[in-house]
Amino acid sequence: DTEAINPAEIDNYSKKHFPMCMRTIHDVLRTAHHVKHFSRLQYGLFLKGIGLIYENAMEFWRQEFTKAMDQDKFDKSYLYNFKHQFGKVGNMTNYSPYSCMKIIMNNVGPGEHHGCPFKHWDPSILKTKLNDYGVNSEAINTINDLVCQGHYQIACTRYFEATHNQAPQNTISHPNQYFEESKNIGK
Ligand code: SF4
Repeated sequence: DTEAINPAEIDNYSKKHFPMCMRTIHDVLRTAHHVKHFSRLQYGLFLKGIGLIYENAMEFWRQEFTKAMDQDKFDKSYLYNFKHQFGKVGNMTNYSPYSCMKIIMNNVGPGEHHGCPFKHWDPSILKTKLNDYGVNSEAINTINDLVCQGHYQIACTRYFEATHNQAPQNTISHPNQYFEESKNIGK
């Protein structure tokens, strides 16, 4: 079983151990105090997968969303949605975190932040972000070439390598695998 994570560590983890798809949603959430439906799903299930337990997850979303809306609105319009991810309501399915393939195959509309940056972002925006995240220009060019060839997960693996100074043990195929491999470095 996954060890429970401390919610106070999430900001730190997002910078050190999250793949770009999740770091992006986290940043939007912290800035806008809101993210749309598919981001809540993609990110919420990922957080569950890294060990954010149910009670802490509800508190995490509540704290952030109620910076921009009142408690009552959160309880009425959003809480059910988050409980649902843990199988606490509705059909009681305990949903699994999404794989890269599932995320890559999703459609992302305007104003939405879910999806895979390597697949869904405009290449110039991706390059700027990679530069912001401290990726060197040689790696940025390699990543850009891989993206142009449609090798999104290999591009992500190269991003891992550039930001950790070592490659992951396996090619990235799941955001939760990315997190685990990143956390294991230096252990
Ligand atoms: Fe996330 Fe997978 Fe895309 Fe990497 S390849 S950014 S882990 S969806």
